[in-house]
Amino acid sequence: MDGNIIDVKRFTIHDGQGIRSTVFLKGCGLRCAWCHNPEGIENSIGLWYLSRPCIRCRACIAVCPEDALSAHDDADHFIWINRRRCTKCGRCVEACPTTALSFDGRRLSSEAVVEILLRDREFYLRSGGGITISGGDPLIQHGFALEILKGCKAEGLHTAIETCLFGSWDVIGAFIPLTDLFIVDLKLDDDRLHQEYTGHGNTLIKDNYRRLAGPGRNLLTRIPLIPRVTAIPDNIRAIARFVRECNPGGKVELINFNPLAENKYRLMDRDREFFQRMAPLGPEELAGLYAVLEAEGLAAVREHRT
Ligand code: SF4
Ligand code: SF4
Repeated sequence: MDGNIIDVKRFTIHDGQGIRSTVFLKGCGLRCAWCHNPEGIENSIGLWYLSRPCIRCRACIAVCPEDALSAHDDADHFIWINRRRCTKCGRCVEACPTTALSFDGRRLSSEAVVEILLRDREFYLRSGGGITISGGDPLIQHGFALEILKGCKAEGLHTAIETCLFGSWDVIGAFIPLTDLFIVDLKLDDDRLHQEYTGHGNTLIKDNYRRLAGPGRNLLTRIPLIPRVTAIPDNIRAIARFVRECNPGGKVELINFNPLAENKYRLMDRDREFFQRMAPLGPEELAGLYAVLEAEGLAAVREHRT
C-alpha cells in the first residue's frame, strides 16, 4: 500500500524507549493553532520555497505549465507560488538548480518504509529501541500505518505510535495488537477551549482515551505547553486528574513550546501571528507545572525535548 510521508528520522531518542526511527506521516484530524509540524496537517504533498538558496535564475518560472510562479522584487522572498493554480507537477523542483523549491513530503509504499526502518535494526535491538509512527497523526492514513506496523512486528521490532486519538474507535482498535506503546497527546481539558484552539471538541478524544487506557496497555500521555493556553495550572491539573482516573500510575510528559516551528509557517506562506506572540516556558514556570502533576500523584516524565 502507498502513502504520503513527510520524512523518516533515524536515531531519534524522544519518541519512546531506546534508539528509534520515527516515520512522520502526512494528515491530521485536528487543526491546533500551535501545530509544530504544519507540513503534517494536510495529507497531500505541498510545495515549499526557501529564499536563502534561491539564486534568482527564474528557471522555475520558465518551466511552470500553469503560470503558477511569479518573481517579486522582495529582498526576502523572490518567488511566489499561486497555490490555487499549482498542480504539483514537480517541473519547477526538477528545474531548480538549488534546493530553493522542494516538496514537503513524498509518496512511498509501506514496504519501502519498512525497508528504510530495518536499516537500523541492530541499533534498536541493542538499545531496547524500535520504531515510532508519528505525524500528522497515524490515524488519518491508518491503512498505510497499519501495514508499516505489521511489517515491523513481523521483524520483531518494538512499535509505538504518537496520536491525538481523534478518530473512530474501530480505527484505534486496529492499532492495539500491533502497537507496544501509545504516545497520546492531550491538550486541553475544557471542551469549548479545545474546540476553539484545535477545531474540534474533546469528547471523542476522552472517550477513546478511556477505552485505550485498559489494563496492560502501555500509554505515555503528552501535554504540549502553549503559554496562556494549555500551560496553565488549572488545565494541567484537570488533565492530570483525568489521566489518573483512566490510567492510574500513568506517565505524563510536558512538552515545552517550540518557537522554531515559526520558520515552517513562513516557508508555507501561512499566518505566523500565533507564533510571534509565544515563547517557551522558563525553568520556574516548568517546575510549577511539574509540581501540579506530582501533587496529583502522577509519574511526571521530566521534559527532555522542546
Ligand atoms: S509544481 Fe508544477 S504547477 Fe506547481 S509551481 Fe511547480 S511547475 Fe508550476
Ligand atoms: S529555479 Fe530555484 S533558484 Fe532559480 S529562481 Fe526558481 S527557486 Fe530560485
